[in-house]
Amino acid sequence: MDKELMKNNDDREAVSGNFIHSFIDEDIAKGGRYEGKTVHTRFPPEPNGYLHIGHAKAVCINFATAEKYNGFCNLRMDDTNPSKEDVEYVDAIEEDIHWLGFDWGDRFYYASDYFEQMYEYAVELIKKGLAYVCELNADQMREYRGDLKTPARSPYRDRPIEESLDLFERMKNGEFENGAYTLRAKMDLASGNFAMRDPVIYRINHTAHHRTGDKWCIYPMYDFAHPIEDAIEGITHSLCTLEFESHRPIYDWVIDNISAPAKPRQIEFARLGINNTVVSKRRLRALVEEGIVAAWDDPRMPTICGLRRRGYTPKAIRSFCEQVGVAKVNSTIEYSFLEHCLRDDLNNTAQRIMAVLRPIKLVITNYPEGKTEEFTVENNPNCPEDGSRSITFSRECYIEAEDFLEVPFKKYQRLYPGNEVRLKSAYIVKCTGCEKDENGNVTTVFAEYDPATRGGDTPDGRKVRGTIHWVDAGNYVDAEVRLYDNLFTDPEPDTGDKNFMDYINPESLVVLKNCKVEAFIKETDKQYFQFMRTGYFCLDNKDSSKDSPVFNRSVSLKDGFKKK
Ligand code: ATP
Ligand code: MG
Repeated sequence: MDKELMKNNDDREAVSGNFIHSFIDEDIAKGGRYEGKTVHTRFPPEPNGYLHIGHAKAVCINFATAEKYNGFCNLRMDDTNPSKEDVEYVDAIEEDIHWLGFDWGDRFYYASDYFEQMYEYAVELIKKGLAYVCELNADQMREYRGDLKTPARSPYRDRPIEESLDLFERMKNGEFENGAYTLRAKMDLASGNFAMRDPVIYRINHTAHHRTGDKWCIYPMYDFAHPIEDAIEGITHSLCTLEFESHRPIYDWVIDNISAPAKPRQIEFARLGINNTVVSKRRLRALVEEGIVAAWDDPRMPTICGLRRRGYTPKAIRSFCEQVGVAKVNSTIEYSFLEHCLRDDLNNTAQRIMAVLRPIKLVITNYPEGKTEEFTVENNPNCPEDGSRSITFSRECYIEAEDFLEVPFKKYQRLYPGNEVRLKSAYIVKCTGCEKDENGNVTTVFAEYDPATRGGDTPDGRKVRGTIHWVDAGNYVDAEVRLYDNLFTDPEPDTGDKNFMDYINPESLVVLKNCKVEAFIKETDKQYFQFMRTGYFCLDNKDSSKDSPVFNRSVSLKDGFKKK
């Protein structure tokens, strides 16, 4: 795996420094169609699902490129396919991009607003003898497609212009059933690039559109619509993913053959793939619809809203996208690298706090009953400006069940009868025994404290190896804590002929109730926390309330990503 990672890193190096920017620099230097132009990009999501981490990469590339050149980046809903689109998604997309920290100002567009112009451009192509109405259905089209040695055929290619104009208008007027006719561009039936073999540019689809309603029953295909959308908006550089590379000749053909108001250039970059998850709206929708996860914003989802709810910060996601860089070769990035980027951010910003996830009681038998002490601790040792808070200590506190063993295993340095342990920031205590219930489960641990070790120091310099966290049993808040693991049991659940649904991890969510959290949680407005020893957590933005907080574990403390 590591070798793979290094190889990917090398690939990234080879083309990074950002080949997109090199292309743009060249264009600017060349002058010509870019002479005096402000660099203008766009992010064009199809509003048929929520944005995921792959989209975040495209968002970053488009907005950051515009920023670098003091240009503009449009947000455009690419809503030319009526079937699965919805306003719910439009709102969510806007929210997610704003949350990532990018802004399109007043440059928000809908591709569906250009339907009229697209129709006119199609008519222009027919009039120029560059498009025709075809009657082949999908099966026939495949049959007539030819192969490397044989060109494709269409018996309708030489249909007179007038006839095509008439049929196209009648297609628009709703006279025909779905699939009865298509409009095809006359490109090159013998092209070695099959995408160029007279692609369909309009099809009949009697489906209401979420914005234009029943006005249209013919819809343009992506390859025809996209260059027009870009040209209408004055986009100079249309950045998209690699799967469109073989369609670039179509993009250029459309731009060259219609009276386009601008001549944008398409540049392709590698799609972001991540292991241990799936990045495809279709797959993610299936996870929601089949009830595998609770919703699009389930913290196990690689959606922007899921990551946000999980505790990812915009900074972590942007830093991830930047470091992944732009490449010309598709590659799979380790999920642990995304986690690494989150830790990197939270390490400097998260509020430190103590919380006991699986509590048992610790009674300090020689500590006076009714007494309470306060200790001052730093909120974040990496960030002195964050100040400090006080924590209380009394005769009883909660500790993690796993921090006590009646019979220790080798190298176990936590509580066991006779052993000394540091209660973080408070005292050194020595374990004296425990009490069990009728089933033999430990219910209470007993210890004695050494009053000379206030703050956790040993004045005589004796070594105390273990340090554990604790929460005052007289001053805490009960919380629910949700621990997450990979959603899939296979690191690459979506490769080859695997069905990702066969690899759902049944233990991807563990819910713990009655966890004990420092009472400080009630006083702070902070969102992101590092629970000592157990990980980074954030308050769940949906299910949490001041009185009954719910925490999501964002990421564990231990970094699984190996830097080379
Ligand atoms: P999906 O396959 O998840 O449905 P999509 O490409 O169909 O994705 P769009 O809404 O059409 O989704 O994508 C909007 C933009 O985001 C496009 O320019 C697309 O190239 C880009 N994009 C989508 N997925 C990724 C990815 N994994 N990595 C980088 N860019 C992506
Ligand atoms: Mg798409």
